[in-house]
Amino acid sequence: MIYADVIIDISLDKLDRPFSYRIPENLLEKVDVGTRVLVPFGKGNTIKKAYIIALSENTAYDPEKVKDIAGIAKDAVTIEEKQVELAAFIRKSFGGTMNQALKVVLPAKASVKKLEFREVVRLMGREELLALKGEALRKHQNAKVKLLEELLLQETIPYEWITGKLGVSSSSIASLAKAGALKVESVTRYRNPVHMDSREEERKSLSPDQQAIVDAVREDEKNGIKGRYLIHGITGSGKTEVYMALIEDVVKKGKQAIFLIPEIALTYQTLVRFFRRFGNRVSVMNSTLSPGEKYDQCMRAKNGEIDIVIGPRSALFVPFPDLGMIIMDEEHETSYKSESTPKYHARIVAEKLADMSDCAFVMGSATPSVDAYYNAQQGHYRMFKLKERLTGGALPMVSVVDLRRELKEGNRSIFSGKLKELLRDRIDRGEQSILFLNRRGYSGFISCRECGKVMKCPHCDVSLSEHYGGKLVCHYCGYETTRPEVCPECGSKYIAGFKAGTEQIEESLNRLFPGVKVLRMDADTTKTKDSYEKILSTFSNGEAQILVGTQMIVKGHDFPKVTLVGVLAADLSLGSTDFHAAERTFQLLVQAVGRAGRGELPGEAVIQTYQPEHYAIGFAAAQDYEGFFEEEKAYRSLLGYPPLAHMLAVQIFGPDRERAEKLAENIGGGIRKNAPDITEGADVSGMAVIGPAPASIGRIKDMYRFVVYIKAERYDILVKAKDLIEERLKSARLKNEIVQFDFDPVNML
Ligand code: ADP
Ligand code: ZN
Ligand code: ZN
Repeated sequence: MIYADVIIDISLDKLDRPFSYRIPENLLEKVDVGTRVLVPFGKGNTIKKAYIIALSENTAYDPEKVKDIAGIAKDAVTIEEKQVELAAFIRKSFGGTMNQALKVVLPAKASVKKLEFREVVRLMGREELLALKGEALRKHQNAKVKLLEELLLQETIPYEWITGKLGVSSSSIASLAKAGALKVESVTRYRNPVHMDSREEERKSLSPDQQAIVDAVREDEKNGIKGRYLIHGITGSGKTEVYMALIEDVVKKGKQAIFLIPEIALTYQTLVRFFRRFGNRVSVMNSTLSPGEKYDQCMRAKNGEIDIVIGPRSALFVPFPDLGMIIMDEEHETSYKSESTPKYHARIVAEKLADMSDCAFVMGSATPSVDAYYNAQQGHYRMFKLKERLTGGALPMVSVVDLRRELKEGNRSIFSGKLKELLRDRIDRGEQSILFLNRRGYSGFISCRECGKVMKCPHCDVSLSEHYGGKLVCHYCGYETTRPEVCPECGSKYIAGFKAGTEQIEESLNRLFPGVKVLRMDADTTKTKDSYEKILSTFSNGEAQILVGTQMIVKGHDFPKVTLVGVLAADLSLGSTDFHAAERTFQLLVQAVGRAGRGELPGEAVIQTYQPEHYAIGFAAAQDYEGFFEEEKAYRSLLGYPPLAHMLAVQIFGPDRERAEKLAENIGGGIRKNAPDITEGADVSGMAVIGPAPASIGRIKDMYRFVVYIKAERYDILVKAKDLIEERLKSARLKNEIVQFDFDPVNML
């Protein structure tokens, strides 16, 4: 192997192809696929960083003209060969450049100096040490005496402890080393981001339903099947316990496991359980780690110091030597999809990695994504159900309140009569309540009641939200202005907000129930990391009776004393134009309702809505996942939406509206014209091109946004369409336009 294909580390699409270099003799032993090297590039032979992505005996180019690799990049992290393969898969399936894909699979961006730790190691026997000590005593070398006495007691002593606590200088240590009494050794210690007592957890004997899952996976394993599984089990049904049992099997075989959780999940509670079971063989990987800590976790994984890594989608790229299982908890969470190019979905990459590693892949959720559930129904995943809560506590009683009727009956408050009555009742009984609003800000948008003008952000096509203290804020770019006294359009005094926000609810509660302690949790009250934990612990300690919040309160965390959950306006999230609206609403409602009655006391939930007849609300109230799924499947099938078909959103951004629109039109037109090619003579009706259309928010941060949607039954047709667009863009004269691809988008633009 004397030639290497490298990808130059510059984010220029035009250079995003492999270049061939010769590996000089002196580097032959030192490079491999994934090594970051320095290469002379272009006419001026400027030195650039590059990744080796393949090695070969020969080159397709004139060997005379192939240049030599100049050296190995300092402090660079080597990408494992498997990760290079994964990067190629990500690039191919989700678009973007190889360079961008390589950056994704690199969990630690740079090698960071390891923590070096020095130890003094005893080399002499007792008699010899005593002789040396006698000599030192005679010469009044007190420092040496102290050190020799210490060495008589223990074989290894931390260097810093000797020079610090013991007060012995480095020169004394060196002198004793010279005499052959000791040696100084460097030990590398990897930083462990988790500090927790590991205490053996009393192991629960699995319920028959839990055991059946573990047995089925074992049976498959015995038969050489590395299965794909989906566990559909309500919160508290024992999924985590099953994951831990499965991981235990994996670890016993000397293999490793990746446990994926959504970025926002409360990792602490889960971590504690894993630590109690697996001790310090567990580690975490997430965005709060420093680069040094990230790098060290990769090294610990590589060196076999840990068996399990817990983390969001980036944990997939921790380089384990012998991966035995991937688990994805809360599979339905949209944060598993990357929001920046390449916009990959962790579920698809995990499946690929499981294929490559020949290992099992387990997903779990209380409300599986329509995608995953559909795939399970089609037989791609084996499905298991866990139907009962193991810690007692039945599912809550749910009532749906029609807000239109409330209004007709003269109730203009945010709370229905029913909700008010139940809140009062919980306060009297000393039980807790949670009120959930899927919205942030004080009172939503502000408009003029006379002329209808809506106050909008001057940089983005969105309305400003009113916040406390008379401020108007743009949630997309952060633009802030003071609330005008009169309408800038017509001068009317009657400008006001429409919808209630969390702050307004808090205020109403204070008026309605004076003296009752209310906590509020939303994006504004949780700006710092600690504030989030603090609100949760205050509430779970019973220091407040009511917790008001946005969707962040419906995830994770058990509050045993909560016996009432109120959803204030269930349909707010149904209003969006995103085809996932019903799915998201259903999931949020099921989760929210499930917050009630997690302890001994039975729970109750009230869903307030303007659309009580909507199926997402009806099935959520009935806690009927299958019912919802079938209805949703029929709807998506009718309109050709994923998962019944696939969809590619081509997103075009640009500061010049006309240029961006023109580019979007060209892209849409190009695909239409080449439809027969792209579909390879397969039924052309297997593909549909929609748009271009301005994105639902047409402008953000002064960039105009357009989308072309391409729908096709087969994913590979969409990949071909993307390839064609990428190819054309290479020769297009773009100014500041950006084109991005989003396959099977989880959020519509
Ligand atoms: P999930 O992950 O589905 O929310 P968990 O695994 O966290 O469920 O289990 C919910 C609760 O039930 C936890 O407190 C857990 O300790 C307990 N639990 C789980 N499995 C068992 C079991 N087999 N026997 C007794 N308690 C169990
Ligand atoms: Zn006006
Ligand atoms: Zn803005």
